[in-house]
Amino acid sequence: MGNPRDSGKAGQGGDRSPQGAGQGRRGALRAPSTAQEIGSPSFPIRETPVTGNVPRFEIPDWREKYGVVAGITGRGDQPGRGFDLGLWSEAPVGLVMNHWRNFRRALPEFTAVALGQQVHGVEVMTLDGGAGWIQVEGIDGWVTSRPGILLTVTIADCIPVYLLVPGRAVAVLHAGWRGTARGILERGLNQLQSITGCSPADIVMHCGVGICGQCYEVGSEVVEGCGGQVVGSGPWHVDLRERLMDRAGELGLSRVTTSGWCSAHDRASFYSHRASQGGDGRMAAYIGMSTHAAVVHPHQ
Ligand SMILES: [Zn+2]
Repeated sequence: MGNPRDSGKAGQGGDRSPQGAGQGRRGALRAPSTAQEIGSPSFPIRETPVTGNVPRFEIPDWREKYGVVAGITGRGDQPGRGFDLGLWSEAPVGLVMNHWRNFRRALPEFTAVALGQQVHGVEVMTLDGGAGWIQVEGIDGWVTSRPGILLTVTIADCIPVYLLVPGRAVAVLHAGWRGTARGILERGLNQLQSITGCSPADIVMHCGVGICGQCYEVGSEVVEGCGGQVVGSGPWHVDLRERLMDRAGELGLSRVTTSGWCSAHDRASFYSHRASQGGDGRMAAYIGMSTHAAVVHPHQ
């Protein structure tokens, strides 16, 4: 699973040295709770491409192991903007809605799809039910314990954080640096725990396709906002997934994995806001508990 980025990550170890206490936490994350927890900061896992009309990648094994469908759409090979799912953007609305309809058809076991107008905030909504399109403003994360509801956030460099309590609930969060700094992970975990009554050790987490530390050059406000210490003269680099994983470790999670894909390094397959200087579209990161039932879409 090694790739050139591993050395880049290792190279950033120096940036993290002021947080010496973090080493212990990361050490804990490297010790999987079972032999099947294959991901770790040292050994990222890669979402695997799914064949079909909709370009998408799934987190390996989650469908079989947990009955959960989780992944992210990709750029695809259409000319022009590709499989852009960016509502509230400059992309033509008809084109984008058509992509969303195709995306929904590709996952027919879900009777509802939730999408928020994201604001880099920390509002996380728990859904108890619903059908068709569920669209809410100002939402950067979703939680549900209901099978058949597909939760989505749109992404192009920010980190999609997937959470699940096996057999009981799922969540997805949109975590850029602002959301990370403001505590969206904590909010999502709180809501997941409050609806399931689980302990942090029961929660499985995956930091999905987003920008890697090597590609994410930032100002001092981002370093400090994410809990780092500004050392030397910039520019600096922040690995958001590493920050989120460290935080998860502090909060008592031990079943945490990370993606080996970088939206910027791997821009041929994904969208990167940063690498495209704002020109790219948006991907949908999604998670839901499958019903496996034959379902007719109410609004299609
Ligand atoms: Zn990268």
